[in-house]
Amino acid sequence: MSNEAAATPAASTATDSLRILREVYGYETFRGEQARIIDTVVQGDDALVIMPTGGGKSVCYQIPALLRAGVGIVVSPLIALMEDQVAALAQLGVRAAYLNSTLTIDAQQAVRNATAAGELDLLYVAPERLLQPDTLAFLGSCKVALIAIDEAHCVSAWGHDFREDYLALGQLQNVFPNVPRLALTATADARTRDDIVSRLALSSPTRFIAGFDRPNITYAVQAKTDAKAQLLNFLEPRQGLSGIVYCLSRKSVEATAEHLRERGYNALPYHAGLDAGIRRDHQARFLREPATIMVATIAFGMGIDKPDVRFVAHLDLPKSMEAYYQETGRAGRDGEAADAWMVYGMQDVVRLGRMLDESQAGEDHKRIERSKLDALLGWCEITTCRRRALLAYFGETRDDDCGNCDTCTDAPVTWDATVPAQKLLSCAYRTGQRFGAGHVIDVLRGADNEKVRRFNHDALSTYGLGAEYSDQQWRSIVRQLVVRGYLRSDHDRYGALVLTGKARPLLRGEEVLYLREDRKVTRAKRRKSTYTLNLEDEALMDALKARRAELAEEAGVPPYVIFHDASLLGMVEHRPSTPEALLAVHGVGAAKLEKYGEDFLA
Ligand code: ADP
Ligand code: ZN
Repeated sequence: MSNEAAATPAASTATDSLRILREVYGYETFRGEQARIIDTVVQGDDALVIMPTGGGKSVCYQIPALLRAGVGIVVSPLIALMEDQVAALAQLGVRAAYLNSTLTIDAQQAVRNATAAGELDLLYVAPERLLQPDTLAFLGSCKVALIAIDEAHCVSAWGHDFREDYLALGQLQNVFPNVPRLALTATADARTRDDIVSRLALSSPTRFIAGFDRPNITYAVQAKTDAKAQLLNFLEPRQGLSGIVYCLSRKSVEATAEHLRERGYNALPYHAGLDAGIRRDHQARFLREPATIMVATIAFGMGIDKPDVRFVAHLDLPKSMEAYYQETGRAGRDGEAADAWMVYGMQDVVRLGRMLDESQAGEDHKRIERSKLDALLGWCEITTCRRRALLAYFGETRDDDCGNCDTCTDAPVTWDATVPAQKLLSCAYRTGQRFGAGHVIDVLRGADNEKVRRFNHDALSTYGLGAEYSDQQWRSIVRQLVVRGYLRSDHDRYGALVLTGKARPLLRGEEVLYLREDRKVTRAKRRKSTYTLNLEDEALMDALKARRAELAEEAGVPPYVIFHDASLLGMVEHRPSTPEALLAVHGVGAAKLEKYGEDFLA
């Protein structure tokens, strides 16, 4: 593909970019603000783009890179993904390459030569590589079309994934003063957005803030009772689907993956403690093999471009709403129905609180992190539409309930918990505010054990006062009292429950407290397939998939890089018999028609 002149008037830019969208990508129309963003960058202006995962950020810099003279530089933090991104572009006929530490010296030189000769449309570079003086000097001498800074929230300490390397990207302005730069991310609150603009020294960028809603994602949160059993229950109706299961620790990643494998799931572990080769292999298998479940710490996932991740399950609580939104955002990028499912319990609250307290960060930073965690906890316990609350957190108001979250489809039951809450608070008080939930509950339920006897707690007036509730029910009460700020768990004293000022009016009977009842874990219904194909269609779909798998194997790329499921479904639906008809199918562009047209028409 050849580059065209930079100075094109607006009207023809719009036609040119639409032509590229259709011919190269095989998509009919732009989504949301894509066209305006592309226009802005093609005109040579800076832009800040906030768009949810799956919203289509890539074409916002890829198309301008094709329209402007010179190479488009894409700064991205995850070198592990560059190879796949470049391979996917090659499938579209776009000339792309990457520069990172995985390349041999010779290969790096070849990329440099191609760049200098103007033979590349796009060049992916890791920030630390880009900022090396010799790379900067080299690229400074080349014709550069634009600089796209992906995952731009990494530049801000207010964001949730600060990276030192990103800070220095501000100097790009000096090296490339006349090159438009665009910063892109899926998550950034108002403060983080300002930070991105100032730290990257963008010059009066146009801000494009797309909505945060991911309507195809179903949100659900359950109280953690037996995480493994709950997960199996969740997975049962989802056999044959791909997904990600997030755990907090490496140990639980290993144990969970093992457990799922024993149950016949194709589950792979992924965490920073694994050998780099194994991580690469597992990531590649997750991208390529169908029905694969990645069990991972948050070390996995940033920038993973797998469109058909059907669920993201959290067995442990993330640190913030931002992190939760980003992690769950990896589900359903193809727009088909997907699940964001989470279990959480008191242990999560204690553990995350302790990690925060013990972290080396300054007090200000800790305060921010704590309030971010509190916001997420409050959201977990919410009794109204989850989507509305999630969007509200990111500053978006929505007037109606979504009908696609657990609180909408299965309204939570609340109950008057004033008296049991008083019993619990008073028991925590009488045991000296020195014990964690387990012991306080034992005393309330009148347990006869060594610890109770050792501390003479069987002599307390609250001993045995709460035998009418199960351990499980008491844990739910404690958790909600902590989340609502009546109690706090003291991390210096191993999670001892301590009363806060808010507890007093409740204890005095001046306040009525409603809590939500934890949902009983019921067997989930089998998820209905989004597509209803008749037998003949199904046979054709299977044949197309089989051909796709062969071609993917030959090309050494994941199957969806050849064609998405949506494209195959389009072929089943329209039964194209000519190249022109095939071109009209969603996701079929000129390069793919030429490469695979005959195969799929046959
Ligand atoms: P993200 O914003 O998460 O980086 P991508 O750029 O990876 O999203 O796009 C998500 C998916 O949507 C990709 O499969 C992409 O090809 C597709 N897509 C992007 N723009 C359009 C469009 N205008 N029409 C149809 N599909 C699109
Ligand atoms: Zn809802």
